[in-house]
Amino acid sequence: MADKILEYLIFELDGLGESTYEVDDPIGDDFSVDVPQELVRDDLPFPDVPEVEVVRHYTRLSQLNFSVDTGFYPLGSCTMKYNPKIHEHVASDARFAMLHPYQPDEDVQGALAVMYHLSELLQEITGMDAISLHPAAGAHGELTGTFIARAYFRQKGETGRHIAIIPDSAHGTNPASAAMAGFDVIEVKSNEKGQVDMDALREIVDKYGDEIAIIMLTNPNTLGVFEENILEIAELIHGVGGLLYYDGANLNGILGMARPGDMGFDIVHLNLHKTFSAPHGGGGPGSGPIGVKEHLKDFLPVPTVVYDEESGMFRLNYDIPHSIGRMRMFHANFLVLLKAYMYIISLGGEGLRQVGRLAVLNANYLAAKVKKYFPIPYGELYKHEFVATGKVLKEQGVKTLDIAKRLIDFGVHPPTIYFPLIVSEALMIEPTETEVKYNLDMYAAALETIYKEAHENPDILHSAPNNAPIGRLDDVKAVKQLKVVYTEEE
Ligand SMILES: *Cc1c(COP(=O)(O)O)cnc(C)c1O
Repeated sequence: MADKILEYLIFELDGLGESTYEVDDPIGDDFSVDVPQELVRDDLPFPDVPEVEVVRHYTRLSQLNFSVDTGFYPLGSCTMKYNPKIHEHVASDARFAMLHPYQPDEDVQGALAVMYHLSELLQEITGMDAISLHPAAGAHGELTGTFIARAYFRQKGETGRHIAIIPDSAHGTNPASAAMAGFDVIEVKSNEKGQVDMDALREIVDKYGDEIAIIMLTNPNTLGVFEENILEIAELIHGVGGLLYYDGANLNGILGMARPGDMGFDIVHLNLHKTFSAPHGGGGPGSGPIGVKEHLKDFLPVPTVVYDEESGMFRLNYDIPHSIGRMRMFHANFLVLLKAYMYIISLGGEGLRQVGRLAVLNANYLAAKVKKYFPIPYGELYKHEFVATGKVLKEQGVKTLDIAKRLIDFGVHPPTIYFPLIVSEALMIEPTETEVKYNLDMYAAALETIYKEAHENPDILHSAPNNAPIGRLDDVKAVKQLKVVYTEEE
C-alpha cells in the first residue's frame, strides 16, 4: 500500500482497489484466441487499483514533463518554439491521419498536392532546385545528403574524393554522417571570431585538393555567428571540385533574409521540427527534407512527387536515373510535413521574415542581459542564439551543470550545455521568436540570481534541482542502466 501521495509507479498503488472491475470473457467466444496452456499465467502481479486512481496517476505523470507548452525552453540549437495548436487539430483530422501509404495516387491527390507544394515552398525558401521530403530528421538528412555526394562523385568517376571538412564548432551528427557515408573527416578550426579560420581552410584545400569531397557547414553556426566568408569558402571548395553541404538546423536565424542556395551550397537539409514548428523532443517524429542544386537532382531518393500536366494529377515518381534509392519506408513523416506546410502558408513570406527578425532580436536582447554575468566569448551580433560561458564561477566551485540544474528550480528549462565544444563550460541559449519580453527578463534575472548564489551560497547550486519532482540524476547511469521493467524493491 502506498504511503506517499505522489507515486511514480502504478504498482506501488497496489492494494488501493476495492472497486476494480471483473470482466468476464471480454472478447467473447467468437473472437477468443487460444493461448497455449503453458503460456497462460495466473501469477501476474497486476496492481489492484480503482479506476479513479489510475486516471489520477497517469494525469499526474503527464504533468511531470516539462514542455514548450508549460514553460520557457531556450534549449540552444533545438529551436523549441511554440507550435500553433491549429496545426495539431488539422493534422489529427482522420482524412489526413488515416491515410495509408499504399493507397493509389488517385486516392490521395490532396496529400500529394501538400507534398508537392511544400517542396516548391522549401525550394523557394532555401534557394535550391529540387527537394526530397524523405529524411525523418536532420541527422537523417545529413546521411541522405552525404550519400548523394558520394553517388555524385562515383558517377563522375572521381572516387578518390574521400575527405569531408568539418569545423570544430559543428554538431556531432556532421562528422558521424560523413563517416557513415565513407568519408574521412578533417577538422578545420575556428578563428577568434568563432568563424571558419580561412588560413587553416586554405591549408587543407592546398594539401588535399581533389581528394576533397565535401565541406559541411552550419550557417549561422552553432555559436550563433554568421560565417561572413561563406562566398569565399564556396569559391575555394568549388575551385577544387568539392561540394558544400548546409546543415539547416539554424535556419531560423536567417529565415526570409538569406538563402543557403545563394551562398553557394549544393546540398541543404532543413529540420522542419525546428524552424517550421512541429513539436519535437523525445526522439520524434521529425522531418529533415533535403534540397539540392540542379547537378544533384538525379541522385535524390525515390519517390518524389511530380505534377503531370496532361492528366492534371499529382503522382509519385520512381524514375530518377541515378537515385540513391530509398532512405526510409514509405514516403515521409507526412503529418509533420503537413504541419510545416500550414506554418509556412499561414505566415507567408513577410511572416517568415518576421520570424527570423524576432528570433535575432530576442537572442540579442537576452545576450545583452546575460553577458553582464556570463561572458560570451564569440560574436558580437548573434543570430538566433548565443553561447555564454559558466567558467567565471570556477573559483566558487560551481560548474555549468550546477547552473543548468538550478535553473530548473526557477521553473524554466536549462539551456544546452557543454556544446559547442570550443566554448568551455558552454551555456547555449536560444530563446526563439515566440517568447515575450517578460520571459527573457525572467530568465536573465534567474541567471543573475544564480550568479549571486554562487558567491554567497554555492551549496544550493550543487544540490539543485531542489524543488523538482526528481532530484539530480546520474545522467550516464540513467541512460546505461535504463530500467523499463518493474521489479519490487527488496
Ligand atoms: C539538431 C541539429 C542537428 C540534428 O538534427 P536532428 O533533427 O536532431 O537529427 C544537426 N545539426 C545541428 C546544428 C543541430 O542543431
